[in-house]
Amino acid sequence: MTRDETTQGTMLLISGPSGSGKSTICKRLLEDPRVVFSVSATTRTKREGEVDGRDYYFLSVEEFREKRATGAFLESAEVYGNLYGTLREPMQEAIAKGFVYLVEIDVQGAMQLLAGAEPGIYVFIAPPSMEELEARLRGRGSETPESLERRLGKAEDEYRERHRYDHVVVNDDLNIAVADVRVIAGLDTPAGTEGATS
Ligand code: 5GP
Repeated sequence: MTRDETTQGTMLLISGPSGSGKSTICKRLLEDPRVVFSVSATTRTKREGEVDGRDYYFLSVEEFREKRATGAFLESAEVYGNLYGTLREPMQEAIAKGFVYLVEIDVQGAMQLLAGAEPGIYVFIAPPSMEELEARLRGRGSETPESLERRLGKAEDEYRERHRYDHVVVNDDLNIAVADVRVIAGLDTPAGTEGATS
């Protein structure tokens, strides 16, 4: 599955607050065969229907710790008592083959990659406004008043970090946001510049 022997690929990091629509944007980006998704490693138990190597690399705590000690992870975190991490090796392989390697990650994880100065394109997906974000989270219907408050507070903290990214894409209209990210990732040329010579 070589995309282009002569061209290096790139890491495309997509991050943003919960409710920003980053997962939907990532799903659309993955329709392009030049884009591959970063499969994380985790120590949590496999859920019904999940496949090892597709949804996650399921590792024991010992395996995870060993890998972490050898620097196998670009970043790792403990979430709800389980360990999660982004593996370095699959990314390096995909990039060498010319793929756009899509890392969808929360803002804390993105900060770890930034701190390590990992080369790549860092994109922050922003909601059109905090009011809209609140409406989207409420619309999910799965939030209690407490969890909504918590998520909104976290989203505000995360929003303040957006200047650290290479690009901020406001997800007001999904098609426009996807088109913008595709141009940023070099998957498309900007609209209106096709065939331009200068
Ligand atoms: P779940 O267990 O429901 O699939 O994921 C739980 C949480 O783990 C989610 O909030 C998700 O963002 C986070 N997560 C999944 N993979 C990674 C990863 O590779 N690194 C980090 N830092 N968090 C992850």
